[in-house]
Amino acid sequence: MTVIHGFSRYLSPSNGENNHSSEVLLKSTSNRHVKHRSQALIEYDYIVVGGGTAGCPLAATLSSNYSVLLLEWGGLPHDHPDVLSQEKYVVNLYEANDRDSPAQRFTSEDGIPNLRGRILGGSSMINVGIYSRADGDFYARTGIKWDMGAVKKAYEWVEESIVFGTDNLTTWESSVRDALLESNIGPDNGFTLDHVVGVKVTGATFDEAGRRHGAVELVNKANPENL
Ligand SMILES: Cc1cc2nc3c(=O)[nH]c(=O)nc-3n(C[C@H](O)[C@H](O)[C@H](O)COP(=O)(O)OP(=O)(O)OC[C@H]3O[C@@H](n4cnc5c(N)ncnc54)[C@H](O)[C@@H]3O)c2cc1C
Repeated sequence: MTVIHGFSRYLSPSNGENNHSSEVLLKSTSNRHVKHRSQALIEYDYIVVGGGTAGCPLAATLSSNYSVLLLEWGGLPHDHPDVLSQEKYVVNLYEANDRDSPAQRFTSEDGIPNLRGRILGGSSMINVGIYSRADGDFYARTGIKWDMGAVKKAYEWVEESIVFGTDNLTTWESSVRDALLESNIGPDNGFTLDHVVGVKVTGATFDEAGRRHGAVELVNKANPENL
């Protein structure tokens, strides 16, 4: 179990009906692993299981009004610096092991070998980093009555922190775009984060220096008093 630096007030939960002390592995600020036994009880309004692409922003958002415990079984990005580098993208996938690598191998229920993130930030720390807002139809298909003003704010909340974009393309990228347009896949939408029909240049969670900005950075937007 990883306890995030600065958030190490984690104490093992107990149901209050027994005296079982849970054993948790705390990560100290000196980077040593420390086994710690505790019987203390702390209550949280919410417990978010999985500090991944969805879990990090969910915990950060909830923390503005509620107390939140964010549980993540993977490690911390700064202990696996390769996940922060665009150049090392394939290395991270290639080096997946069964123990502690940021990319974890698994086989889907229909038998397909796959990979997923096992690190604070989740699969956003091992993925290709392509970013786009959702397809307009998506909202209708969910059957949920969305507050589109709130949806727009949520997109902007994410984009201002971890999404980068430019229509200043490399030769290779503009060749692919031109080839698509010449194949009558259009129109050319230029740069946009919206999900649109045709060809577009979209955002990425890698900045221009090739550094990854995954969902883990959204934890920085949390209210530290509550997370
Ligand atoms: C190689 C690859 C490339 C991809 N490229 C893109 C892309 O370019 N653009 C795009 O939009 N999508 C891409 N995706 C898909 C995208 O990354 C995922 O759909 C998304 O990150 C899933 O988010 P999530 O929050 O559902 O899960 P995750 O981000 O995977 O988070 C789940 C978290 O839960 C943790 N966890 C699991 N079980 C437990 C437990 N029992 N206790 C505590 N913690 C637990 C995991 O360690 C993980 O951190 C890619 C995926 C992969 C694998």
